[in-house]
Amino acid sequence: MGYWRGIIECYREFLPVDEKTPIITLYEGNTPLVHAQNLAREIGFRGEIFLKYEGLNPTGSFKDRGMTVAISKAVEDGKKAVICASTGNTSASAAAYAAKAGLKAFVLLPKGAVALGKLSQAVIYGARVIAVQGNFDDALYMVRKIGEILPVEIVNSVNPYRIEGQKTGAFEVCDALGDAPDYHFIPVGNAGNITAYWKGYREYYQVGKIRRLPKMMGWQAEGSAPIVKGYPIKNPQTIATAIKIGNPYSWQPALQAVHQSGGLIDAVSDEEILQAYKLIASKEGIFCEPASAASVAGLIKLTRENFFKGGEVVVCTLTGNGLKDPDTAMKVCEQPITLPPDLDKVLELIEQ
Ligand SMILES: *Cc1c(COP(=O)(O)O)cnc(C)c1O
Repeated sequence: MGYWRGIIECYREFLPVDEKTPIITLYEGNTPLVHAQNLAREIGFRGEIFLKYEGLNPTGSFKDRGMTVAISKAVEDGKKAVICASTGNTSASAAAYAAKAGLKAFVLLPKGAVALGKLSQAVIYGARVIAVQGNFDDALYMVRKIGEILPVEIVNSVNPYRIEGQKTGAFEVCDALGDAPDYHFIPVGNAGNITAYWKGYREYYQVGKIRRLPKMMGWQAEGSAPIVKGYPIKNPQTIATAIKIGNPYSWQPALQAVHQSGGLIDAVSDEEILQAYKLIASKEGIFCEPASAASVAGLIKLTRENFFKGGEVVVCTLTGNGLKDPDTAMKVCEQPITLPPDLDKVLELIEQ
């Protein structure tokens, strides 16, 4: 194969494409699976932790895996425009792939609830950005209605091609480890990704590429945990804006993934999310976004509760790149110290 040409070329036989499908790719996927020994030691986890760092995708989140398939199929079907509702990353990804494909992109964002890095991406890639004075669920409702009225392709995870592309995250984990892990920890927002990973694991199992299936462990934020509570949340609240969703589209498939795999879906507080966010960066050198850290926050929580026997292999998906939301990092960490250009003063501080 020579060099990496994106997830469609790599996993073609598992994806709904053929010779007629024009492949729109930014060479997404092939992201690192980082062995997190420092983190394991720090939290007292007596097995192996691997972090699937999806922040290194072309637009900085796992959404690119689904978008390459969704946009390629939209072009194949002769669509001229795409639309999505987004907490930020879907719009960044849709805008980039639409730019590459020469399609128009319309994105509806909850006003004031999208990290600036993500908003700037949608803008620079040339999407038409509409800030809705409501939340994500309001925006998605309108997008689905617009999709019924106008000939635009919806590229939210209501689009099944998104799930197809995103399942390649599970393939890569298995290719790297030689089998499935014991547990897969993952943040849950609209619940498309947990659905996609479970589909990927099952497909690899069916063709004999792996000998076991992982338990799927989904994590919502406490103030935005409809699946955990069992009812939609009208006004979801959390610092983890990428999972601030009150009525997830893939609610039922996510529950199925959890039940079929013998896993669970639970919630972590914003405080736990931020603590994990800081640990992942300070112990492993990986800057993910707050929502991504919900997976590790869940792992920390269960480790504290003596959930594990020891010796387990665990993968946590880190869904997006921390550089998208530097404001949160600056808010939760020690501030830089300002000094005059005086060597003695600087030395004094360093030697403290
Ligand atoms: C989209 C997103 C999520 C949530 O994924 P779902 O498929 O909606 O459950 C989590 N983290 C980040 C960074 C995201 O962009």
